[in-house]
Amino acid sequence: MRAPLKPLDEALADLLAQAVPLLGVERVDTFDADGRVLREGATSPLQVPPADNSSMDGYAVRVADLAGPAGTELPVSQRIPAGSAAQPLAAGTAARIFTGAPVPAGADAIVMQEDCEALQGGERVRINAMPAAGQWIRRAGEDITRGVQVLSAGTRLGPAALGLAASIGLAQLAVSRRPRVALFSTGDELVMPGEVAPEQLPPGAIYNSNRFFLRAMLRRLGCEVTDLGIVPDRRDATIDALQGAAASHDLILTSGGVSVGEEDHIKPAVEALGELRLWQIAMKPGKPFAYGRIPGARVAAHFMGLPGNPVSSFVTFSLLVRPFLLALQGAADVAPRAMAATAAFDWPRADKRREFLRVRWNAEGRLERFGNQSSGVLTSAAWGDGVVDNPAGQTIARGDVVRFISFADLLS
Ligand code: AMP
Ligand code: MG
Repeated sequence: MRAPLKPLDEALADLLAQAVPLLGVERVDTFDADGRVLREGATSPLQVPPADNSSMDGYAVRVADLAGPAGTELPVSQRIPAGSAAQPLAAGTAARIFTGAPVPAGADAIVMQEDCEALQGGERVRINAMPAAGQWIRRAGEDITRGVQVLSAGTRLGPAALGLAASIGLAQLAVSRRPRVALFSTGDELVMPGEVAPEQLPPGAIYNSNRFFLRAMLRRLGCEVTDLGIVPDRRDATIDALQGAAASHDLILTSGGVSVGEEDHIKPAVEALGELRLWQIAMKPGKPFAYGRIPGARVAAHFMGLPGNPVSSFVTFSLLVRPFLLALQGAADVAPRAMAATAAFDWPRADKRREFLRVRWNAEGRLERFGNQSSGVLTSAAWGDGVVDNPAGQTIARGDVVRFISFADLLS
């Protein structure tokens, strides 16, 4: 009897319920924390900027000392480059000041140098503009107030977050340890590029492509990958590989062999060692997907079996494995963001399953569809900028608004 298809959102919710964040938290240099998930919030011990400072090269003045835009001549009482300390501004004088330099006490505006004329070799200045109070002054604490949390636990760190952490003096950050992932491909038809030349490819053989994108995607997600290569389509070999990997990995990820044909050995092998749920997910590409647990040395390793068809593997990784691995690292926000976009294509045949169509932006800012949407055509994924998440039973006509998910999001 055919099991009913499982909605993708339900499958994802079931997986995320299993994704208890890893216990290990490690301190890494802020320099090395790009892409890692912060496990302790970062609170600022200081205000940023620490003091009022100039956002222009020019002159610091008291507005009350200026007669008007016609020009006021003032003696220059001090010179304040960035990184120096300022003296209070004497009444009736101006201070030469540079970008990033502290504003002297008493000054209430900066006049940019283009509106000033240096006189007597810089001893005096004519101010040719009437500034508004506060002009070109960056206020102390305008970026960050003291005591405020600037980065919360669960943040996936990117370049801007690293800079922000540095701006409050953090040289190290507490991040999740890297998930340890064992990866293997199944399929006796698979050969490795480099081992067999294209002109020597035996009949029935194909190159292993999944291994390449899966390993790269795992690395981008901060995982430490043990690549176990290709495991033969035999039950004993599959059991050996799974058992060996379970001892020292958080997740075992496989591709292929997850259907229920005689040559699909994942299901019986995982069931022999632990527990398995084999789902038929209502998504296209990517129907078969397996989740299980295999007892290891101390805890049970997670198991995920992806379909063998390359695009199915690619899409199920992006929509199920990726959020799971982020949640395992304690990330708060794991769902890919969808945006509204306009289709520049027709999709007249609705499918019973929710579809993820490979698309790309055209010059008009609309989405073009790759011609062949078959789950074996990896060209569609390399060509595409992302996917249209098309609900079950939905046709698309040129000009319709669709939901787009960017590969920039899914592959980061
Ligand atoms: P399976 O899920 O094992 O039934 O495989 C489904 C289809 O995907 C078959 O046509 C396989 O040859 C192909 N396939 C499986 N694994 C890979 C792989 N690692 N690289 C490229 N194609 C694969
Ligand atoms: Mg196979």
